[in-house]
Amino acid sequence: MSKYWSDFVSQLEPYVPGEQPKISNITKLNANENPYGPSPDALAVMQQLSNDDLRLYPPMNADELKQTIADNFGLVKEQIFVGNGSDEVLAHAFNGLLKQSKPLLFPDITYSFYPVFCQLYGIEYQQMPLAEDLSINLEDYKRDNGGIIFPNPNAPSGRLLGLDVIEQLLQANRDSVVVVDEAYIDFGGESAVALINSYANLLVVHTMSKSRSLAGMRIGYAMGSVELIEGLERIKNSFNPFPLGQLQIAAAIASFKDDDYFKSTCARVISSREKLAEQLQALGFDVLPSAANFVFARYSPSDNKSQRSAQDIADKLREHGVIVRHFKQDRIDQFLRITVGTEEQNQFLLETLKNLLG
Ligand SMILES: *Cc1c(COP(=O)(O)O)cnc(C)c1O
Repeated sequence: MSKYWSDFVSQLEPYVPGEQPKISNITKLNANENPYGPSPDALAVMQQLSNDDLRLYPPMNADELKQTIADNFGLVKEQIFVGNGSDEVLAHAFNGLLKQSKPLLFPDITYSFYPVFCQLYGIEYQQMPLAEDLSINLEDYKRDNGGIIFPNPNAPSGRLLGLDVIEQLLQANRDSVVVVDEAYIDFGGESAVALINSYANLLVVHTMSKSRSLAGMRIGYAMGSVELIEGLERIKNSFNPFPLGQLQIAAAIASFKDDDYFKSTCARVISSREKLAEQLQALGFDVLPSAANFVFARYSPSDNKSQRSAQDIADKLREHGVIVRHFKQDRIDQFLRITVGTEEQNQFLLETLKNLLG
């Protein structure tokens, strides 16, 4: 607290990301970062462009990147919005599309940035409880609302919704914007991008932080009708007209052009995820089905006496150099969210767990 702060700043409760410890030699499975690096082409182009031209402002509308993304998804570039990480894209969507006179709807257990954006922009919201199995029931969202947002797959559960139920929601909900946050869609889901040309109120948000391994470059984008994208552009051009620099734009384009690398690294993460889930189950964990690059798991040994709290397991793992994410939130405080690492990292996690719990 400071006397120099405005009343508004004093009452904010900012989002807290997974920690980024300085210690090297750590098995970092807490922030859903990709264990494989960015496309070598993206790295090369960033080096190439690290030159005197950086004195210039970047291209105003990142048109070349928008065109690349549009081509990749079968859209036109006026249907693409780009921003400094999908968090910024989401912020503009909250401010420009989801701030309405009626409350915004989102799940009670979901990406914890959503209520923070609501507080920042003064948006009323209502959280819809997940089902017992921690799945989203979109039937609950078929009611009067000022907008709807949910991640698919959801975070931190990893559970995926099919396009059929998303389309049913869109059919029932024509008068407000529906945002599908597809941060993890490349790890096994079907993208709602296919529905964009049929529903003018659908906005699909992607990030290059997870499946494209560019978290450090901060690149996100949204896809939707020209109408929705224009709304986002109005916010962006009233806030920061240059959210992406030359290096970000070039890295993003190179990443899209290197489709083989993208597909093969996603496939590796998916196959490691399935193996990790099985091995965690063998150690006595319940593991929710995941379509993301993480698993959500709860220790539930058959013999009750060896039960340990998730907080305790997370603390002990940390002492042994493995960081996973634990949320102190009702209904999920006995779960750990574990990012899928390299095969080596996953095996180290499993061995450490075996020693701790054994
Ligand atoms: C990681 C994540 C984001 C943010 O991604 P950035 O592009 O790195 O800002 C958005 N939504 C969800 C659900 C995420 O997990």
